[in-house]
Amino acid sequence: FACGLKACASVGDLERGRHMHVNILDEGLATDVAVGNMLVDMYSKCGALSEAREAFDELHHKSIVSWTSLITGYAENGPCLEALRCFEQMQSDGLSPNAAILSSVLRACGSIGAIHKGRSIHTTLSQYEFGKDPLVSNGLISMYANCGSLVQAQEVFDQMEVQDVSTWSTMIKGYGVNHEGEMAVKCFHDMLKQGVSPDAVTFTCLLTACNHSSLVDEGWAFFKIMREDYGIVPIVEHDVCMVSLLAKSGHLYEAEMFLERLCSSSQRTWAALLGACKTYGEEQLAFRCFQRLIQINPNVAAWYVLMKDIYTNAGRHDDALMIEKLRIQSKTIKKPASALIEVDKELHEFFVSDFQTKELSLMMRSLNSKLKDEGHLLNVDAVLKPVNDEEKEVALCEHAERLAIAFGLLHTPQGHTLHVTKNLRMCNDCHNAGKTISRITQREIILRDDSCIHHFNDGLCLCKDMF
Ligand code: ZN
Ligand code: ZN
Repeated sequence: FACGLKACASVGDLERGRHMHVNILDEGLATDVAVGNMLVDMYSKCGALSEAREAFDELHHKSIVSWTSLITGYAENGPCLEALRCFEQMQSDGLSPNAAILSSVLRACGSIGAIHKGRSIHTTLSQYEFGKDPLVSNGLISMYANCGSLVQAQEVFDQMEVQDVSTWSTMIKGYGVNHEGEMAVKCFHDMLKQGVSPDAVTFTCLLTACNHSSLVDEGWAFFKIMREDYGIVPIVEHDVCMVSLLAKSGHLYEAEMFLERLCSSSQRTWAALLGACKTYGEEQLAFRCFQRLIQINPNVAAWYVLMKDIYTNAGRHDDALMIEKLRIQSKTIKKPASALIEVDKELHEFFVSDFQTKELSLMMRSLNSKLKDEGHLLNVDAVLKPVNDEEKEVALCEHAERLAIAFGLLHTPQGHTLHVTKNLRMCNDCHNAGKTISRITQREIILRDDSCIHHFNDGLCLCKDMF
């Protein structure tokens, strides 16, 4: 059974894994240590995290192996905050982490912008004999880069004795997600000079970098040498990057043609094109993408939300309402928007209109009036609820990331950089507000959403409004 579960995990066959679980229960073998651990691992690797947690809770003896499966699962596939909670629980149970756990926890810190937590783990690494393990160092690079601290990421990189292909790839991606495309390209050339050969992941990182910095010619060139010089067959990740790169740089129809030429286009590639249509207000192409997408899978709320936003921005309110109705009919549930901010090494989570304290509500009011004075016009059309304009303004100003920023301004000293993470793509209005807030409060705000990392500084964002 343990071997069977391992096989299910490696090919991601959740259904077969569940079936095997039933057989295991019938045979009364669920209490076996090896089988129990493998159940946690299988569910975790297949992304079924609540089932992984149940299997974990059933274990009589929770070893480092069991914790590794659970924490890695949370860090890679799910609520990263949960990975950190498990890590703390594991330590309070008296267990010491291994390299795989530390690497996962560091990556989780990066995903949610928990730079202080990540940094405090960094300071403890010297106490472990595996503290210099490349797995851990790569986790550190990824953590710093995802928190927008490229200088520290580069420092960790430089201190490593040997940089293997995954270290280089992590660094390339780090520059890429922070809109430093040219540095990412330079990093790639340095890697070749060192005699390290790129793999499929390196090209994903490189194309991601080209995508975030709109390097179209470079992107095409890398896509070409990937196949011709390195014999790497493009996988869906590469296609997603290319579509997104072409589309975001305004070559929307070229992106559509690229997609039409692929034998099997996936939902992620069409979703990338739909996302870009929002930036350029291309309603017709957007609707073609949307139709493709709901044919492939009608149950993803994000697509309805994007299409609705595109119609709303174009002033086509009836069509926007029609899309909203379609979403309700399809019974897809919108992921609730939430934002996280780390203050005093504690993570605080906010939801829409989640004021939490009187103080925060006052802070929001004062910020909004300052934004108004600065001529920040609220895009009231972005709110579709049938309310009057004043109420719409209120609803917009209460987006989770706005609350997190206000909370950060309240509870950190002047000059302190704010690190915020948003689980969905931020709206244009919050993006504009972020830029203005960075200028009027003289604060650097690093906000990671599900499309890229935004660096708001002195009224500008490094993404140059392309997200
Ligand atoms: Zn917003
Ligand atoms: Zn931005």
